[in-house]
Amino acid sequence: MARPAPVLAAAGDRPLTTLPGVGRVMAEKFAARGLTTVQDLWLHLPRQYEDRTRITPLPELQPGVAAQVEGRVEAVERGFRYRPLLRVAIGDGSRATLVLRFFHFRSQQVNQFRIGARVRAYGTPRIGQQGLEIVHPSYRVLDEGEAGELGDALDPVYPAVEGVGPGTLRRLVAQALEQLPPAEELELLPPGCLPDQLPSLRDALLTLHRPPRDADVGALLAGRHPAQRRLALEELLAHHLSLRRQRIALQAHAAPVLVDDGGRVDALLASLPFALTGAQKRVFGEIRADLARPSPMLRLVQGDVGSGKTVVAALAALLAIGSGRQAALMAPTELLAEQHLANLRAWLEPLGVRVAWLAGKVIGRARSQALADVASGAAQLVVGTHALMQQGVVFADLALAIIDEQHRFGVHQRLALRDKGAQGGRVPHQLVMTATPIPRTLAMAAYADLDVSAIDELPPGRTPVQTVVLGASRRPELIERIRAACAEGRQAYWVCTLIDESDEVVAQAAQTTWEQLTAALPELRVGFVHGRMKAAEKQATMLAFKRGELDLLVATTVIEVGVDVPNASLMIIENAERLGLSQLHQLRGRVGRGSAASSCVLLYQPPLSQMARQRLETMRSTSDGFVIAEKDLELRGPGELLGTRQTGLAEFRIADLARDADLLPEVHRIGESLAARAPEVADRLVDRWIGGAARYAAA
Ligand code: ADP
Ligand code: MG
Repeated sequence: MARPAPVLAAAGDRPLTTLPGVGRVMAEKFAARGLTTVQDLWLHLPRQYEDRTRITPLPELQPGVAAQVEGRVEAVERGFRYRPLLRVAIGDGSRATLVLRFFHFRSQQVNQFRIGARVRAYGTPRIGQQGLEIVHPSYRVLDEGEAGELGDALDPVYPAVEGVGPGTLRRLVAQALEQLPPAEELELLPPGCLPDQLPSLRDALLTLHRPPRDADVGALLAGRHPAQRRLALEELLAHHLSLRRQRIALQAHAAPVLVDDGGRVDALLASLPFALTGAQKRVFGEIRADLARPSPMLRLVQGDVGSGKTVVAALAALLAIGSGRQAALMAPTELLAEQHLANLRAWLEPLGVRVAWLAGKVIGRARSQALADVASGAAQLVVGTHALMQQGVVFADLALAIIDEQHRFGVHQRLALRDKGAQGGRVPHQLVMTATPIPRTLAMAAYADLDVSAIDELPPGRTPVQTVVLGASRRPELIERIRAACAEGRQAYWVCTLIDESDEVVAQAAQTTWEQLTAALPELRVGFVHGRMKAAEKQATMLAFKRGELDLLVATTVIEVGVDVPNASLMIIENAERLGLSQLHQLRGRVGRGSAASSCVLLYQPPLSQMARQRLETMRSTSDGFVIAEKDLELRGPGELLGTRQTGLAEFRIADLARDADLLPEVHRIGESLAARAPEVADRLVDRWIGGAARYAAA
């Protein structure tokens, strides 16, 4: 079913300099925007359309609605009030007049507007001093005998390319489109595999660049037109196939079979003060099955804050250790890594496991000892921060790399740790954990290359955090609330946020809040952490809070990640309206980790935007991380939710995961069939959309 189409590759892959009028300098301007080939221009889609296929009679013009008009010049006024001004009144035989208004113009232009000259103009009218006017319309003076035929397609308005005028851009895209091969040559998808209502690729491209006059412009601007869906489908398909390819490449490696010889898993389970939740058991079962096979695991464990991912990681590590090999656990901050170290030592050392500690602050003798233990294999588990990836760190036999809060790391960091365990054709298994739940639809597209498990149940006995939303004027009451909570021996967080401000501004605002709270609550021990502090100072304060040596912690959002202080039962978040849902959810997850009833107060600065209101309402009404993630996706779109850089999720040219999520089942269906029956077509699709260099290595 594959058809060779070498012509396509030739046409689309030609550099832009093959277009008439594009020299090296111009090509560089395009390249700065990532446009280097003729095909890149095919895919440089309009962001707007202008309808010049009809002429709107002047009396029908409406303010704010763009239109094309035609009329004869009735009056010209040239003035210099505060700046040069040219006003040209045109009439079309109706009683109405329209003023074309220019602030910068050349005298040659003025001369064109003779009384009685025929002018055709396009623009958006607004209400001026004397009826409607269009400021700086695009216009043309027609010759007397000229028919002035109207086109039958809408005019495209392209996203700007710096240094290239809109007219030139339009002309070059049109030239590129002339090189579009015939439909059957361009098409890579086998006939019959596309949903019926979707056009061929060639038709889709031509429609999007030059939509017919009766096209549904609303659908086009919303990105829901069949022509756009056609492109989005193909793009999503290409990404799916690329991830699939990477997964297969990973699976071509061998990995050590890890099983628990020696019953350490059961011993740990027996020693824990709690029983695993159903979800923890299920997810550990999935990991266990993966590790029992001689091919590398790449599994993402998603679990809401407090769902108990650490113990699952410990159990997984025991499988590596039980097989006589090593495991490593990497966390994004020292504090978090230290917390893991404490937990893991408490759980595993009684079972005879040696745990080594590697972080930036481990230096001198301690560091050389740790490195020696890791290299000799004496340390069976290594816990640490980025320090684990450093050059001097050599493992004797790393079989399982665990990465906590993976959204804080780049893909490359994950790969760097994995490579520490690569030997011959063998790679270690990888377990990545995240507390940022990703909606299932999105996970399908984002993580086609890895398996996803969800710990979708919290340990029993947690009282859900009660969330209230209050205007900032209620601040004084909260001071009393903190006083009361701390009087009962509980602890509280006060989170200061100012998004878009520099760390310094936030730190200053937080400093003021800290001073105010310290003054208002003299009987309490109040700590303060912010992003501009030295890491060691920050850690010391967090640790003091964790140990109960501080009652109230004033903080910027630096406390967001994973710290566990079960005794903290009250959190106040200032300017909550400025934060995204996922971030609010992460922050709120710092309370409600013990058995005491906890609450979270979201303070906002009125007036609230519609979007902010919805976010806060979502926070108030649910604590389910998956529901929140779905809502976040709906409100903000996937880019922000996932953070392109962190996940290695590619940027799409056309597709939008939130908008086009409903295409994903179809994408999967076609993807599986292509991979099975026409792998060479699959490869060409990947090349077309993603190019030879994989933009994101997800292996
Ligand atoms: P997270 O998934 O956010 O990393 P942690 O692993 O830090 O969560 O676990 C949060 C707290 O819950 C820890 O104190 C941990 O010991 C405890 N915990 C984990 N699993 C259970 C369970 N099944 N029952 C009760 N407590 C548990
Ligand atoms: Mg955690």
